[in-house]
Amino acid sequence: MSEQIKPHVDEEDGRLYFNYHVGAELEFTTAAGKRFRLRIVDCEYENGTEYYFLESAGKLLPTRFSVDKLKKQLTAAPYEVIDEGELQELPLLVEEVQLYYQERIKELNFDNAEANKKLNGTEYKSLVRAASSLKKRLMLAEADGREEDAAQIRKDLSENEAKRSKILADKGIDYKVLTKVKDCEICGDTGIVDGKICECALERTEQIKAFNAALRLAELAGT
Ligand SMILES: [Zn+2]
Repeated sequence: MSEQIKPHVDEEDGRLYFNYHVGAELEFTTAAGKRFRLRIVDCEYENGTEYYFLESAGKLLPTRFSVDKLKKQLTAAPYEVIDEGELQELPLLVEEVQLYYQERIKELNFDNAEANKKLNGTEYKSLVRAASSLKKRLMLAEADGREEDAAQIRKDLSENEAKRSKILADKGIDYKVLTKVKDCEICGDTGIVDGKICECALERTEQIKAFNAALRLAELAGT
């Protein structure tokens, strides 16, 4: 396998771009002195490779060119640039999503540990245990048809709940952070489903791109 040309990393913004510009128009002169133009009409990124759709003499070529093939074509003969075209950013990549979500999970675990620390020395954890045994007592009372007992247990449970809510509010703790509730049930907060980017990650495209750009810039700076 020949070496694959990697996407271009912009040293200013740290983001990934296609190597060639869409809209670029180049004029070649053949050995016989004939001129013809090649235009990049579109690009796409698939399985780690850049592909380009080209128009030659006004006609769309039937097959797309990989970045390697396009480079070979462009180095084979001299040409004049008629139009520079426009720089295109790569779409959101699975690798970028993974890096972002891994960091996000670390952050959530950190917040969760902080929340648990804040609850030390409070009644919260014993209230959780008490609630769990109250729930079982309630099931038994209901199964046995002891209505009066059940009513009392329900009352105790709701008091227990109110106390817990108050502790969380006083300590400024988010229940979702404390119980590690997943934001996305589809991907379980990994950002990836069946090897594809989850909807929740697509919604965060800009954040994910910005995070990865910052990582690349830090790498370029050697930090
Ligand atoms: Zn998701």
